Amino acid sequence: MSTALLETLALWPESRIRETLDAATPDAVVGALSRERRDVRDLIALLSPAAVPLLEEMAREAQRLTRRQFGRTISLYAPLYLSNVCAADCIYCGFSAQAEPRHARVTLTTGEIERECAALSAMGYKSVLLLTGDAPAVATPRYIADACAIARRWFPSVAVEIYAMDQDEYALLCTYGLDSVTLYMETYERELYARMHRHGRKRDYAYRLAAVERAAAAGVRRVSIGALLGLHDWRVEGVWLGLHGRHLERYCWRTALSLSFPRLRHTPPGFQIPKPVSDAELVQMMLAMRLFLPEAGFNLSTREPAVLRDRLIHLGVTAISAGSSTRPGGYGAPECNQLAQFEIEDRRSPAEVVAMISKAGYDPVWKDFDAAFLG
Ligand code: SF4
Repeated sequence: MSTALLETLALWPESRIRETLDAATPDAVVGALSRERRDVRDLIALLSPAAVPLLEEMAREAQRLTRRQFGRTISLYAPLYLSNVCAADCIYCGFSAQAEPRHARVTLTTGEIERECAALSAMGYKSVLLLTGDAPAVATPRYIADACAIARRWFPSVAVEIYAMDQDEYALLCTYGLDSVTLYMETYERELYARMHRHGRKRDYAYRLAAVERAAAAGVRRVSIGALLGLHDWRVEGVWLGLHGRHLERYCWRTALSLSFPRLRHTPPGFQIPKPVSDAELVQMMLAMRLFLPEAGFNLSTREPAVLRDRLIHLGVTAISAGSSTRPGGYGAPECNQLAQFEIEDRRSPAEVVAMISKAGYDPVWKDFDAAFLG
């Protein structure tokens, strides 16, 4: 399966994508807008500079497609950091061992996980996303399985955003209540990937690329993919992300697909974001992806500021986090000063975000009903 994805990506090297982007015309964008099923050339047209004057038309079509597929619902979820120990060295991340060598690291005990779950449950959450760094010797598959089991007692829906695993390890987590896996490729550009990820298992590009397929084969109900925006040209990255999404829809059709659009904002001292993505560019990327993958869920985290999130929910977002802490133990003990992965931008409470969603004309949904339909 991963071989097929590598072959698909190889058909669209950066040079070919750039040529097609440069050649895109307003007519090509209008043609892409007029079709119900869009191919990769349509996606490139929608991501191209030629599409910028047509963003309003794209927004209308994105809204139509989102409402057709998801109605007016927006689900709520919360991240729960289990550990900030990380053996990897991703040079853009505040959790990397090299970024903060002197800061003490923690991994929550089962009692502390229970306390975090209780705090989130009291806020009304029914969906939780468990996160760790890339440290399988500390946050072992068994530890994460136990964390899934605890979380499952509090929440009908349990997702993880952890290191890439083998299929049998994902299957173990499914046995303990996991139903969703989030895993970003960070960048699909191989040489850049090697420069950004200097140590650890995460260096293995092909292993990471195929991880969500292994998770799907192990039985997870939903996978979320994304590229870390700011590492590489967002237009090129968007084409590869779209190809990855189409590939998953074809080969993992039993598993629902979601996309996330994490944008690099706060990075360790000395690291300059190579290709910053503006608000307008983020909007164009989300619109183009909605038109290319109309059935995919779109996640939006508190990395983005409140004022922008209020606008983005009209452009295809289907799940949103709120009141987030990016520190292990940050809900049960809000005063704790554990190392955070990144600073959140939208500091509104869940109740305030729910009020914003309702005021915008959408229905905030706490519970994930798919699990009930699927038994
Ligand atoms: S991005 Fe993930 S794997 Fe890389 S340093 Fe940060 S927490 Fe560790």
